[in-house]
Amino acid sequence: MSKQQPLTPKFGSKIRLKDFDPDYCEDLDKKTAKKEEDRLEKRFAALQEMLYAQNKHSLLVVLQAMDAGGKDGAIKKVFDSVNPQGVQVTSFKVPTAEELAHDYLWRIHKAVPGRGFIGIFNRSHYEDVLVVRVNELVPQDVWVKRYDQINAFERLLADNGVTILKFYLHISKDEQKQRFQERLDNPDKHWKFSLGDLGVRERWGDYMQAYEDAITLCNTPYAPWHIVPANRKWYRDLVVTRTIVNALEQMGLAYPEPEDDLTGVVIPD
Ligand code: ADP
Repeated sequence: MSKQQPLTPKFGSKIRLKDFDPDYCEDLDKKTAKKEEDRLEKRFAALQEMLYAQNKHSLLVVLQAMDAGGKDGAIKKVFDSVNPQGVQVTSFKVPTAEELAHDYLWRIHKAVPGRGFIGIFNRSHYEDVLVVRVNELVPQDVWVKRYDQINAFERLLADNGVTILKFYLHISKDEQKQRFQERLDNPDKHWKFSLGDLGVRERWGDYMQAYEDAITLCNTPYAPWHIVPANRKWYRDLVVTRTIVNALEQMGLAYPEPEDDLTGVVIPD
């Protein structure tokens, strides 16, 4: 495998996930990666405070993965230093009757972070071109139009001050088997396992194709996809943290000027 595995595929190029090594880690070891992670998390906390105080931009982090791909773990680790007051996590499940009575982006749009906030999507509108496509929950002529619709929706958000980062946590089928087995072997992890997960695993190839199309067709400069090698949890977390910190650094964040002139102010006894 190439030593410099790209994180963001070239815009417009056809993506083949088998070209991306889920074990890739730049030859880093866990200890070195953890040190960098700690340093980055401190910076992340400082930048998030500025984002919140400035109340001008927002950041949307979209996480997609196969079952046991590490979405929950990444959310727990990457965001463990930031102020919970400025972060909103939304987990998108099977749509409710009310959600199904609307267009598929209705529930998504409502969860987009407002100015000053970081929004984390644990699953997202991409389910509407993944599980929906694989399980034929709507006809092909319906889901096929969604790639353009999603691009238009994300463009609208980007034009309105939302920085969008989309992560596909890329694990191998073997790694998924191992993680499922760990869940089965540990009664405290049984709640994370459902027999339905095995049905999804059986359709692995179909899901890979659906992911490849979603990443290929919706990888845009205003809402890029990042293919994160995720077999090693510590490398996965490092890549996600680095990407977020980089994006925040580029937003030109600053603390706002005070509303009043504070020179010479004395606090009375
Ligand atoms: P997770 O696996 O994310 O921890 P759950 O086990 O509750 O959480 O799974 C959520 C389920 O909801 C997944 O099977 C996912 O495919 C499904 N889901 C999410 N969005 C949609 C959608 N738009 N249409 C159909 N199913 C969806």
